[in-house]
Amino acid sequence: MTDTNRLVIGGDLVEAASGETFESIDPSTGQTLATVAKAGKEDVRRTTEVARAAFDEGPWPRMKGRKRAAALLAVADGIKKEATELAETEARDSGGTIRKANNADIGMAISTFRVYAEMAGREEDEEPLPRSPISYNYLRREPMGVCAAITPWNFPLQMAAWKIAPAIAAGNTVILKPASYTPLSSLMVGRICLEAGIPEGVVNVLSGPGAAAGEELVVSPLVDKVAFTGSTEVGRRIMQLASGTVKKVTLELGGKSPSIVTDAADLDYAVDGALWGVFFHQGQVCSAGTRLFVQRSVFDDFVPALVKRAQDLRVGPALNAESDLGPVVSQSQLETVERYVEIGRSEGAEVAVGGERAVVEGHEGGYYYRPTILTGVDNSMKVAQEEIFGPVLAVIPFEDDDEVVSLANDSIYGLAGAVWSTDVPRAVSIAERLRTGTVWINDYHMINPRYPFGGYKQSGIGREHGKLGFDEYREAKHIHIDLAGGRDKHPWWGSLFGR
Ligand code: NAD
Repeated sequence: MTDTNRLVIGGDLVEAASGETFESIDPSTGQTLATVAKAGKEDVRRTTEVARAAFDEGPWPRMKGRKRAAALLAVADGIKKEATELAETEARDSGGTIRKANNADIGMAISTFRVYAEMAGREEDEEPLPRSPISYNYLRREPMGVCAAITPWNFPLQMAAWKIAPAIAAGNTVILKPASYTPLSSLMVGRICLEAGIPEGVVNVLSGPGAAAGEELVVSPLVDKVAFTGSTEVGRRIMQLASGTVKKVTLELGGKSPSIVTDAADLDYAVDGALWGVFFHQGQVCSAGTRLFVQRSVFDDFVPALVKRAQDLRVGPALNAESDLGPVVSQSQLETVERYVEIGRSEGAEVAVGGERAVVEGHEGGYYYRPTILTGVDNSMKVAQEEIFGPVLAVIPFEDDDEVVSLANDSIYGLAGAVWSTDVPRAVSIAERLRTGTVWINDYHMINPRYPFGGYKQSGIGREHGKLGFDEYREAKHIHIDLAGGRDKHPWWGSLFGR
């Protein structure tokens, strides 16, 4: 077993206590990519103790913010140094294209560590509260303790950075549990953190199944906070499990985001934008624009152009620089996509393009699906209400702005959305009426570690990124200092309790 396939516990790269392993599959080929240590309850117990001790007794939470900042910058440098290997590992393990890994994942991981280094370095841990004539009051931000971070398989490297960077910048210790489909880049980042000089026990990474390792982390009395990204279904379970110890919980969950093409859109540009919004990373993106609302007056021009362009997208192996779309992550995800397209057909939707597996020569064992556009969709259909998490777009016509706002908001989700319009005031007015955590105007997927990201409704609780994301990892303590001076000056509690 190589270092990349071992658990990161304390300062060590170790095998699971049970000696058990599991296989990570390359979705481009369907073949085994790596054999990885499988953390179980015993590993979780040990790691929570190590992370607890590093928080209660270690230097990290007590260190000056600027020293923590220097360590985070060293992690960013470590990721940069290993960018080629990390990108290739990410592409092979997750099926995301190498173009995505090189252009999105690596840059985002580096800039997330840099942005949070900047925030730690500012040492803005205290602020005065409103003035009182008899007391001085201030707010102090303190780390929460041991944070468990549980991440999904779609963006494992970015998710590792999104969780580890703010958690440790704030002075916490963290235990990251990546999804079993895609453990490799997270284990690499754990090792890079150690090499960058982050003290032992501050960053730990446990690859292992959600039901065993994940649940054990969520119920552990030694863990103070759970930061979860994944499906809404598992998010509900995490909330229930965390309630036993009243843990702080942030949840970044699923979505069914609206992408709205108005009749004021630059149609040519919006065709590309809508396709990028839905088919980036095979549609396996929480914020994907999977419901495309097109104004009826431009529908007949827009949709054929969209279908034509979708036909030209190239599906191929992740490592091929020509591939626009790679495979979906697993055989079971491929079957989920197929099932949903069948459901759409049975509900009366028409397949305008795609609707079947893609055959990629020389990679017959891979999990490829053609970019698929469903027309004749009504917003109440399952394919418009449920998250498919694959390359499937539902196109729905609308008459006017009031109607599209009401259709777009008719969803249990509220993660993101987009409005395509050259009439910017009109686009802003639609954006402000959408019940979602992010709206892009004439753009899509512009997630930035400086700007908050998260969901309304069943898309989540809390925000990642920016100052809001930082504060999700900090407790707020109010300190009150009496300035009145002495018993006689305290008419308030003196009159209730006095002598
Ligand atoms: P998932 O919910 O199946 O798994 C996510 C993580 O939770 C994995 O690490 C898994 O092992 C773990 N897990 C599973 N059951 C658990 C349990 N009972 N207790 C503790 N941990 C458990 O999600 P997935 O299939 O890996 O990822 C896809 C989902 O993630 C989609 O719904 C997508 O929308 C969502 N997602 C959301 C965001 C966001 O920021 N909102 C970002 C990416 C992905």
